[in-house]
Amino acid sequence: MVGATLALTLSQSDLRIALVDASPLNLGYDHRLIALTYNSFCFLSDLNIWNALAPYAETIKKVHVSDRGHFGKVCLSASDLQLPALGYVVPAKYINAALNTLDNKNKYDTFRPATLKNISQTTSRATVVIETEGHEKILTANLIIGADGTHSTVRKLMDISTETIDYRQKALVTVTHLNRAHHNIAYERFHGNGAIAMLPLTQQRCATIWTDDNSIIDSLMQLSDSDFLQTLQKQFGYRLGRLLKIDSRHIYPLKMIKAKEVVKERIILIGNAAHTLSPIAAQGLNLALAEIAMLAKTILQQLPLSTIPNWEQYLSQQRQQQSTSMRISHGLSKVFAKQHSLVNLLRPLGMIGLDLNNPFKNYFARLVMGKKNILS
Ligand SMILES: Cc1cc2nc3c(=O)[nH]c(=O)nc-3n(C[C@H](O)[C@H](O)[C@H](O)COP(=O)(O)OP(=O)(O)OC[C@H]3O[C@@H](n4cnc5c(N)ncnc54)[C@H](O)[C@@H]3O)c2cc1C
Repeated sequence: MVGATLALTLSQSDLRIALVDASPLNLGYDHRLIALTYNSFCFLSDLNIWNALAPYAETIKKVHVSDRGHFGKVCLSASDLQLPALGYVVPAKYINAALNTLDNKNKYDTFRPATLKNISQTTSRATVVIETEGHEKILTANLIIGADGTHSTVRKLMDISTETIDYRQKALVTVTHLNRAHHNIAYERFHGNGAIAMLPLTQQRCATIWTDDNSIIDSLMQLSDSDFLQTLQKQFGYRLGRLLKIDSRHIYPLKMIKAKEVVKERIILIGNAAHTLSPIAAQGLNLALAEIAMLAKTILQQLPLSTIPNWEQYLSQQRQQQSTSMRISHGLSKVFAKQHSLVNLLRPLGMIGLDLNNPFKNYFARLVMGKKNILS
């Protein structure tokens, strides 16, 4: 998603762009359900791909955060921020399909399926060796952007090391069908070791993301659909009425991985290759879209890229944005994953405080939406 979005963004210039992707185009196996912030929606609208996403996108008008077994909740509304929506939920497979329509693909060269084999650079050029249709092919360019995900080959070939935090937790993702309307409210309900998010989807459905310790998620995967539904109803409660049925369940490990460097002269890492965040705070793609906007601007300002670009300004903005997103997702993963008496005491108090204290609540909302830096 990140590589194709960047290619589309840069295709508005005279640059010649090639997109290399190991996966075939049919991404029916991608089960991620993505919450996009309002800023991300604006960015994708400017790229003219929102029309293709709109039929599959559900609006988030309100966010309701609560803590099982404790009083207190935090409610954030789009109207508090004078916005038409706090965000939208779209299945990842439709984002991929919208990015890869024939019309969009004609704006740059595509090698797919094609695997990166080698990478090198001199002061004047960078070169990649890819394998496609059983043959090796060499591409040379002024810039190579590694948007090749969590296990980035670009990162490995460039010898860039990573810092990893393993939360020893997993996310179970499914789609839940409801008996009544969700009224565009996104719920996140924290419990002892994790959280259940129920995000509004089209057709009276919710994206269910249950994060918990590995052993609990493994045992939830063993349950029959009806037993899982019953357990979900018991843990989540009746805020969305009676839950009718679920679709297939999929699991994802919760880890935070951060590349120690994101730029090496003519080679840049972006998206999950630069930072993989826990999905608990729905930040990964939103952060990457913000990076794409900043990177595209930096590149276009420094055309024709005959000398190594000056990355200083980009790096300073990228670090600021990344540290905000990392603090939110690491904070949520860590604080809510621990049964600690002080934390248990602070959780409901903090939530009540947040709901009563409007300026602070708005500050928090703007922070999550990427409109504010956590330090400002
Ligand atoms: C369960 C779950 C829920 C999430 N929910 C949200 C959310 O609500 N909001 C949000 O903002 N983010 C969310 N995220 C995070 C988001 O999905 C990622 O941050 C984002 O998709 C990263 O995209 P990417 O393109 O960097 O990486 P990927 O989507 O992993 O893509 C990497 C690409 O690189 C290609 N590739 C890999 N190796 C090679 C190679 N050697 N040669 C050629 N190509 C290669 C792959 O084929 C693939 O197409 C969620 C993640 C998960 C797991």
